[in-house]
Amino acid sequence: MIIDSQLHAPRPRFRTATRVAIVGAGFSGTMLALNLLEQPHVEVLLIERDRHRMGAGVAYSSSESSHLLNVRAGNMSAFADRPDHFCDWLAAHGLGCDGAFVTRATYGRYLREALAAAMERYGRRLKLVDDEVLDIEERGGRVTLGLVNGGLIEADRAVLAIGNLPPHDPPAVAGAHLPARLYVGDPWATPFEEGLARDAAVLVIGTGLTAVDVILRLVAYGFAGPIVALSRRGLRPHRHVDGLPRLKPILAKPAPELSELVRWARRAARDTDWRQVVDSLRPITQMMWASADAGKRARFLRHLRPFWDVHRHRLAPPVADRIDALVASGQLRFRAGKIAKVSAGRDGLVIDWRPRGTGRVETLHAARMINCTGPQGDLLRSSDPLVRRMLAARRIRPDALRLGLDIDRDGHVIDGEGRASEHILAIGPMTRGDLWEVVAVPDIRVQVSALARRLVNAHWVAGEGL
Ligand SMILES: Cc1cc2nc3c(=O)[nH]c(=O)nc-3n(C[C@H](O)[C@H](O)[C@H](O)COP(=O)(O)OP(=O)(O)OC[C@H]3O[C@@H](n4cnc5c(N)ncnc54)[C@H](O)[C@@H]3O)c2cc1C
Repeated sequence: MIIDSQLHAPRPRFRTATRVAIVGAGFSGTMLALNLLEQPHVEVLLIERDRHRMGAGVAYSSSESSHLLNVRAGNMSAFADRPDHFCDWLAAHGLGCDGAFVTRATYGRYLREALAAAMERYGRRLKLVDDEVLDIEERGGRVTLGLVNGGLIEADRAVLAIGNLPPHDPPAVAGAHLPARLYVGDPWATPFEEGLARDAAVLVIGTGLTAVDVILRLVAYGFAGPIVALSRRGLRPHRHVDGLPRLKPILAKPAPELSELVRWARRAARDTDWRQVVDSLRPITQMMWASADAGKRARFLRHLRPFWDVHRHRLAPPVADRIDALVASGQLRFRAGKIAKVSAGRDGLVIDWRPRGTGRVETLHAARMINCTGPQGDLLRSSDPLVRRMLAARRIRPDALRLGLDIDRDGHVIDGEGRASEHILAIGPMTRGDLWEVVAVPDIRVQVSALARRLVNAHWVAGEGL
C-alpha cells in the first residue's frame, strides 16, 4: 500500500494542477490514468483493491492460455489515437498481429508494461495505491476518498472505474443456501475447479462468454466429466470468421423501429455475411442508444439483447473450435430452460429444471454448479461496500434501466436528488445505461481519451470543442 505524506500535502488550485483519484486499475482506470498523464501538471492516484489485477483488471489478468481475446489484435490498441500501438508492441515481442486473436494474458502483459513505462516516465505524478476505496465524499470543491485501512486520499476529482458488478444468483438459487463446495456464485472471485473430481458432473448456469471461459478453464485443468450449460434460450456466442471483405460502416440509423431494424438486418444479411451487417452498426450503436427513449431501450433489452449479444460479442475461431469439439465428443451439452428448484444432497446437487417451451420438469445431478450468468450492473442488488455506501448516502443512483450508474453526458455521476456531481465521474461498463456500447476496448479507449481531455481542459488549450 502506498500512502505517504505527499498524499496529504496542500494542493495547488484546480486550474493549474489537477489531482485525479481513479478507483479501479482495470483497462478503464489504467488507460484513463495514462491519457491524463500525457497532459502536463496532472497528478494521478490509481487505486486498486486486488494487487494481482493492477493494470489488467478482471478480463486481462487471466493466465489461462485457452482464454483468447474476442476482438482481433489489430483492433485492440489501448490508445484511441494510436491504432497500431498494440500491433507494434506485438511485433516488438516477436508476435504477429494480422487477424490474430492473442491470449488475454498477452494483452494483460501489454497493459502492465504500459503502466510500468508510465511509472518510469512520469515519476511522482503517478501513484499506484494498493487498497480498497470504501467511500467518496465531496467537500469544499474537492473529494475525499476513504480507504479500507482507514487512510484518506484528497483529490480534485474522483473517477469510478470499478468494472462490472458480480453476477446475481439465479432466482431458484437465491434462497437455497447452498454450500460453497457445491455452488460457485462468482467464478471471477473463486477458484471454481478446486476440489472438483475430474470425472464429476458440472452444471454451468449460462451459455455466454463467461460460460465459455469457465468451460475452457475446467478442461485445461484436466476435467473430463460431463458439463451441461443451461440458459433460458440456450444461445451460444457465434464465431468470428476470417477473410470477410472490408466493412462498409453505416453513418445513419437504418430504421427507426426495432422490428424494422431486425427486418433490415435480415435483408442486408442476404447479400453479405451477417457479421458484416452487425459490425456495420457499431459506429452508430451509441448514437442509436442515445436517440432511443426509455421504452425503446427497455424493449431492446427484453426482446433483442440476448440475440444481439451472441451475434455482436463473438468467439475467436480457435475457441469456437474447442467448444464445438467438446459438444461433438458429448462431454458438453447446451440446454435451453429454466431452473425450478435446487437442493443439496449427500452426493451433490439435485437440480429440477424445465426445458424451454415445455411444462415438463427434468432432473440433473451435479457435483458443482457454477453461476456464469455474466456481469451485472444493478446497484440496488449489489453488496459491493463502495456502491452500498455511496447509494445509501444518495451520492449515486442507478440509471433508469438499472444497467449501472446514472451519469450525465460528461460522465459525472447523478446523485439521489437528480443532480450531477461536480467532482465524481464514472467510466467503463458501469456507464452502459448512458452509452450501451461501452463494454469493450474499442469503445472504452475512446471514452477515456475524451474524459481525460475534458478533465484537464485540453479542449480549451487546443482550441477545439468536445
Ligand atoms: C472475461 C472477459 C473477457 C473480455 N474480453 C474482451 C476482449 O477480448 N476484447 C474486448 O475488447 N473486451 C473484452 N472484455 C470487455 C472488458 O470489460 C473491457 O475490455 C475492460 O477490461 C473493462 O475494464 P474495467 O477497467 O472497466 O473493469 P475491470 O477489469 O473489472 O476493472 C475494475 C477494477 O476495479 C477494481 N475495484 C472495484 N471496486 C474497487 C474499489 N472500491 N476500490 C479499489 N478497487 C476497486 C476491481 O478490483 C477491478 O480490478 C472482456 C471482459 C471480460 C469480463
